[in-house]
Amino acid sequence: MITYQGTCPVCAGTAGFAARNDWFRDELKCRECGSIPRERIFAWALDLFRPDWRSVEMHECSPAERAVSRRMAEQCPGYVGSQFFADVPRGEMRGAMRSEDIEALTFPDQSLDLHVHLDVMEHVNRPDRALREMCRTLRPGGMAIFTTPFYPGLEKTLRRAIRFEDGIEHLGAPEYHGNPISDEGALVTFHYGRDLNTLMRMWEPNFSVTQLIPEDPSIGAMGDFRDVFVLRRIG
Ligand SMILES: [Zn+2]
Repeated sequence: MITYQGTCPVCAGTAGFAARNDWFRDELKCRECGSIPRERIFAWALDLFRPDWRSVEMHECSPAERAVSRRMAEQCPGYVGSQFFADVPRGEMRGAMRSEDIEALTFPDQSLDLHVHLDVMEHVNRPDRALREMCRTLRPGGMAIFTTPFYPGLEKTLRRAIRFEDGIEHLGAPEYHGNPISDEGALVTFHYGRDLNTLMRMWEPNFSVTQLIPEDPSIGAMGDFRDVFVLRRIG
């Protein structure tokens, strides 16, 4: 076991972090809530940039059954989570979850303060549309805070797959991540490279873009893919 002392930004527990091996991205877990590094990095950024998040109107895209999403749902009365349910009309609820497509949201213009998601953007077909939709539905000063794998070794963002009405074109070996609502997994459509911030500013000029890559054992922020993005509606 590899261990670090510290305080978990997700659960505020002080029991520290432990990993069975050095693939910290999936292995360095909080000993109390089981959070992994990107969840703690996200929670850290949320507390830093939106310390008022408990009293805002917030949308989480594709939450997983994990401590970081539970904390927001429990502590923020204005929280709504959504999934891409192909069989539920967009905007309608299935249980506690709203049916939404991040590329075509049903929220009215300027109706939210915050969009959050963890590792969703690498699965969307049109990230430009997703950014424009997040911006459209945010009030001025509203924010989108999210994680997505960022490849510093890639000069340019790489498209991995394109989703068409009648199928998928793969532009490399197909890659799938776990999907909270499907056993088939979630198709990876992009590997984001060093041009990502420029691309995002181009896609939606009304967003300012901040990328943080905290490395801090005392919050269990260690290992690969530690990037968190903070977009603020400035126009
Ligand atoms: Zn924890």
